[in-house]
Amino acid sequence: MNKNLANMIFGKWTVIEPDIKINGRLYCLCLCECGTEKFICKSSLTSGRSTQCHKCASTRHGGHNTRLYSIWRNMKQRCSNPKASKYNIYGGRGIAVCYEWKSNFEVFKNWALQNGYSESLSIDRIDSDKGYYPENCRWADCFEQNNNLRSNHLITYNNKTLSINQWARELKISKKTLSERIRRGWNIQRAFETPVLNMEEFNDTQRLPNGRYKKNTEHVETRT
Ligand SMILES: [Zn+2]
Repeated sequence: MNKNLANMIFGKWTVIEPDIKINGRLYCLCLCECGTEKFICKSSLTSGRSTQCHKCASTRHGGHNTRLYSIWRNMKQRCSNPKASKYNIYGGRGIAVCYEWKSNFEVFKNWALQNGYSESLSIDRIDSDKGYYPENCRWADCFEQNNNLRSNHLITYNNKTLSINQWARELKISKKTLSERIRRGWNIQRAFETPVLNMEEFNDTQRLPNGRYKKNTEHVETRT
């Protein structure tokens, strides 16, 4: 039986070019997940004797015991393993890792190296309501990341964790109003459940002709 193995996956091997005859035996040109290309005996592939290149086989964790590999593994865990520590604010909120990254560490690694990865930086999502994919990710230091987390403030209320943007949509209150209420130290219940004031009340907080602000009414509504 001579099955065509093109594009098939055997362990870390992907068959690029099947059925190449060398000295009377059939080989396949294969690509290992790490990027190594090699001719592998066809019967070794189908019998499961060969599943990865020598480099991957000889290194613990398949050569992936690096900081970047941990970042990749942890990213996937918190998005897809309900037992992971922060699953509720990632996978549980619909945050996912794109297929290209999830399925292949090398693709993620190449993106990382081409986009300014260094050992002191962490992966940061530009829009924290969206997932891990090239256009929404960047490498950021702690300061930048905290800043982004603050502007994407995650809030848990009634056992539900959403970003402030998502809460605003859910509660039909503008993001500006919600942020302002929280900034002013309102507790979450009050910030979420107090009806939004109308325009006349908003006018109470506006600037007086003498340039000073009228006494604060605690409420701010946006002009939408
Ligand atoms: Zn390899």
